[in-house]
Amino acid sequence: MNKKKAFRSPTLERLFRYIKMNTVLLSNNQTIMSLERLLQKRSNTSCELCTATENLSIYTLLPSKEPTEKNSLYACATCITQTTDPETTEENHWRCLNDSMWSEHIAVKTLAWRMLSRLRKLGWPQDLLDMLYLDEDELAFAQATGEGEDDENKIIHKDSNGVTLEAGDNVVLIKDLPVKGSSMVAKRGTAVRRISLDHENAEYIEGKVDGQQIVIITKYVKKI
Ligand SMILES: [Zn+2]
Repeated sequence: MNKKKAFRSPTLERLFRYIKMNTVLLSNNQTIMSLERLLQKRSNTSCELCTATENLSIYTLLPSKEPTEKNSLYACATCITQTTDPETTEENHWRCLNDSMWSEHIAVKTLAWRMLSRLRKLGWPQDLLDMLYLDEDELAFAQATGEGEDDENKIIHKDSNGVTLEAGDNVVLIKDLPVKGSSMVAKRGTAVRRISLDHENAEYIEGKVDGQQIVIITKYVKKI
């Protein structure tokens, strides 16, 4: 009896393994095929970034491992190449994000965020980025590849205490400041709400004082 078992068991095991392996392969293929059909339907068989209609395929966002409808998009070869190889990124191709960043699909918004972050020094991508809303989880996922972080020359605005200032922050003036080109003096203690940042100069922010938009030097303000 033992002899019989010893003979049959490895054979059966191989057979089962063979069946199992092929079943897994088959189900993965089916998943990818149905995902492609789903994305084709969602995108009207066009690139969800630039609306091209040729050389389309599924692009799954890093660091995801399993392609799903949520983490994948339908994209053309140009978009995929430029996304994966920063050296080939052409500024003008990505003007398409002006429209596609408003997509309701998170994968499209995430990729828009990553590409705009990569190009933000050019100015217009930063303006679009400022308008692109992602919730906390979505933003964490968008940042997962480190896009936009690699920038040593990134301009960071800091107040008089070294606290980082963001667009939309409120600050208070810590010194009386004469306003250039006018007789106005912005008084110490004046609150400036919803500041904007000068993307070229870390020392300048802008905000309204007495209804007038003025440029303010960051070392004379304190975040509130
Ligand atoms: Zn495209």
